[in-house]
Amino acid sequence: MDFDLTSEQELVRDTVRTFARERIEPIAAALDLEGRFPYELVSELAELGLMGLPIPEEYGGAGGDIVSYAIAIEELTRIDSSVAITMAAHTSLGTMPILLYGTEEQKRRWLPDLATGRRLAAFGLTEPDAGSDAGATRTTAELRDGSWVISGSKLFITNAGTDITWGVTITARTGDEISNIVVENGTPGYVISAPMKKLGWRASDTRELSFEDCTVPEGNLLGERGAGFRQFLEILDGGRISVAAMGVGLAQGAYDLAYAYAKEREQFGKPIASFQAIRFKLADMATEIEAGRALVYKAAWLKDHGRAFAREAAMAKLYTGELSSRVASAALQIHGGFGYMEESAISRLYRDQKILEIGEGTNEVQRMVIARHLGL
Ligand SMILES: Cc1cc2nc3c(=O)[nH]c(=O)nc-3n(C[C@H](O)[C@H](O)[C@H](O)COP(=O)(O)OP(=O)(O)OC[C@H]3O[C@@H](n4cnc5c(N)ncnc54)[C@H](O)[C@@H]3O)c2cc1C
Repeated sequence: MDFDLTSEQELVRDTVRTFARERIEPIAAALDLEGRFPYELVSELAELGLMGLPIPEEYGGAGGDIVSYAIAIEELTRIDSSVAITMAAHTSLGTMPILLYGTEEQKRRWLPDLATGRRLAAFGLTEPDAGSDAGATRTTAELRDGSWVISGSKLFITNAGTDITWGVTITARTGDEISNIVVENGTPGYVISAPMKKLGWRASDTRELSFEDCTVPEGNLLGERGAGFRQFLEILDGGRISVAAMGVGLAQGAYDLAYAYAKEREQFGKPIASFQAIRFKLADMATEIEAGRALVYKAAWLKDHGRAFAREAAMAKLYTGELSSRVASAALQIHGGFGYMEESAISRLYRDQKILEIGEGTNEVQRMVIARHLGL
């Protein structure tokens, strides 16, 4: 593949980089400490056309490619993961199922509000007893008099409960098989918990959802009845590119902080960056980040070119999840005791990192997916 970015991709990178530095960085620590959802930033991202970056223009999106989308997520995560996951979950998990499986009528009805970022969308797959084994979904949807009657619960769902959330696409058992059904916020019988408190991603919205005889129109089924299992696997394949981009972005952000600190902090009469132990750490970090970025851009490029990308997306997600863990840990080490203090940016990145090895399939699940693609 050709690693030269197009002028459009460069423009996205420069625009998001500037936005993240100027608008997010000054308030990222406060958002995290207060656990406050960044409504003002989401509306600015929407104005920049970033909340529907890879959605076609005819539905209100920016019509960008997946490489540009990955770059945008990477640049946001470099500064703040909570904002990045808000955009990534809205796009890859919330909006994509409607674009990929919705009828023309459903797309015309729902996408314009989502692709322009006026409203947010969520995807509810995980349940208390169905995590890595997502096919073990227990939530049921029964067709009664032209409506789906839904009962069950979903856990850890991103973007589900903000003031601007439109709704959630959930997986549910419709008999022996699984289907995807849209539930709009405000539907009677759909109950959303208070925001869950987390180790990281504290400014992002995470909820438990419960459905008690929740009734939605028959027309809220996405795609064919019974196609839900295949659909959610496809959605996760695409979503992995964005979480992998978060891994590279978080590692880059941690490296940036460690690099600056190492040059400024003096011990034994010299900047600590002059000690080989520190220089080697930074050299390893920079090398691994390049490798991770190449994996992410390759997976995105394959998807843009209509080629098979699931194997590369899982590899990119696995590698950048583990890479960001190594880099965040080494970067905090370079900060010494200051890095352990709550007010240090590196401590926030360190806490925000762990979920990158859990969400959208754990490291173990990625290895299972990769092994399957290897024919094992
Ligand atoms: C902040 C946050 C946001 C999230 N957002 C969403 C969202 O928007 N929508 C959504 O649907 N979900 C969301 N999730 C859920 C997330 O995708 C799941 O947490 C994840 O898939 C793991 O499932 P689990 O937590 O049930 O862990 P489990 O599946 O119970 O896994 C526990 C451990 O066992 C390991 N394990 C399980 N099975 C195997 C096996 N066969 N072989 C080896 N090891 C195994 C796992 O790798 C893990 O280490 C979110 C989670 C968090 C924390």
